[in-house]
Amino acid sequence: MCVLRHCDNPRCIRPDHRFLGTRADNVHDMIIKGRARYCRGEENGHHKLTEQDVQTIRQLLPWMEITLIGELFKVAPSAICSIKMNKTWKHLDPPTDSNEARYTVNN
Ligand SMILES: [Zn+2]
Repeated sequence: MCVLRHCDNPRCIRPDHRFLGTRADNVHDMIIKGRARYCRGEENGHHKLTEQDVQTIRQLLPWMEITLIGELFKVAPSAICSIKMNKTWKHLDPPTDSNEARYTVNN
C-alpha cells in the first residue's frame, strides 16, 4: 500500500489530504491528474535504436528483409516491423524523399 495525496504536495502532512492506495492506484492518480510523462524514442531509457537508426531503417525497408535489418541493428524483427507499421517512433518526421514512393505505392 502507498500513501497518496489529494493535493500532490509531497511535503503535505494534513491527514485529510492523504489516502491509502495500491501502486496501481498511484499510477492511475498520476494519469488522471495529468502528471504522467511518457518517454518515447531516445527519451526512453530502454531504447536500443537512435533517431538516426530509425531514419536509416525507414530508408532500408523497401529494399531489405525485416529480419536482415533487425540483425544489422541488433534488434528483434518485431521492432523493425513496428517501425514499418508506424506503431513506434511515429513522433519522428515522416519519411521523405526515397521513402515517399514506397508510402505512395503501399497506401
Ligand atoms: Zn495537502
